[in-house]
Amino acid sequence: MERIRDAVRQAAELCRLVQIYYLSASTKTAGDHSEPVTIADYGSQAIICRALQRHYPDDAVVAEESGGQFLQLVNAEQRAQVRQLLAQVLAEPVSEAELVGWLDFGAGVSARRTWVIDPIDGTKGFLARRHYVVAVGLLREGQVSEGMVAAPGYSAGEGALFYTRDGATFRAPLAAGEGEKVVVSQRHKVDDYVAVQSYERYHASKSRMGRARDYAGLGDSRLLELDSMEKYALVACGAADLYMRLPREGSAYAHKIWDHVAGVALVQNAGGTVTDLDGGPLDFSQGETLPNAGLIASNGAHHQRVVEAVQRVMAE
Ligand code: AMP
Ligand code: MG
Repeated sequence: MERIRDAVRQAAELCRLVQIYYLSASTKTAGDHSEPVTIADYGSQAIICRALQRHYPDDAVVAEESGGQFLQLVNAEQRAQVRQLLAQVLAEPVSEAELVGWLDFGAGVSARRTWVIDPIDGTKGFLARRHYVVAVGLLREGQVSEGMVAAPGYSAGEGALFYTRDGATFRAPLAAGEGEKVVVSQRHKVDDYVAVQSYERYHASKSRMGRARDYAGLGDSRLLELDSMEKYALVACGAADLYMRLPREGSAYAHKIWDHVAGVALVQNAGGTVTDLDGGPLDFSQGETLPNAGLIASNGAHHQRVVEAVQRVMAE
């Protein structure tokens, strides 16, 4: 993760520039994309893949965006904007061929290591100036191993860079500098519990998650709603204790691995627990999607109790 740390920071910087200068013009929706895509998604992914290509030329990459989609969905003016933003952040000129090559680096490759990239997670939050992150996770032989998450909205907009190293999780200033080690909270008392969940009501069932908290005796928890994998980061650093993602009734949504690998790594390396709704492990070995219907991430305290409450809710 150390070798791509500067790139993740540059990607976050590019996102910030897009938010300042281009936001109104940057939205794109098309094809099979249920999520909006912006010029920042492409710029961010290009920077991260460029760094991966330099340091890990033989590794595999699973990323949300692709070069083909960039050429197909993005008009000439916006393609030029992405190149201009990249040139500014990287301080070197960038051709369209280079940019497309970076976007597709490692795609379709099979290797022992797979990097899993969400160039902007929480795009709806990014567009609405709420929370979003730039996320890179690492799978080794299909198992979650490392993660790095740039969270510009962390701590009332102060921002932070979260990353794993040597089996621990660290939090550094977003712009530069080394991190300090963080661990999940030691909170057990139910009155002090802090739960986090998606802001978007279509992404998870707020009523099911409310009932599950009630059944687990955590109905008085403080509840924070925010976009993106920042929720995992909050559990990892002890700012929150429980993050649930329960499917809406009738939903057959297949979770994408890029929405989870980096965050799961942060929580696990910080001493927390992440399971599916049955209390079993999430399965990251099946390609781009997870076979699991939802997830529960916590500081470990009351995890089993929450699993049982979730089982009851899902059976209702
Ligand atoms: P969050 O802000 O935690 O809700 O996560 C944002 C992510 O939710 C996006 O990157 C999407 O890939 C994902 N997403 C989009 N639609 C759904 C859905 N119907 N159910 C669950 N997740 C979704
Ligand atoms: Mg995402």
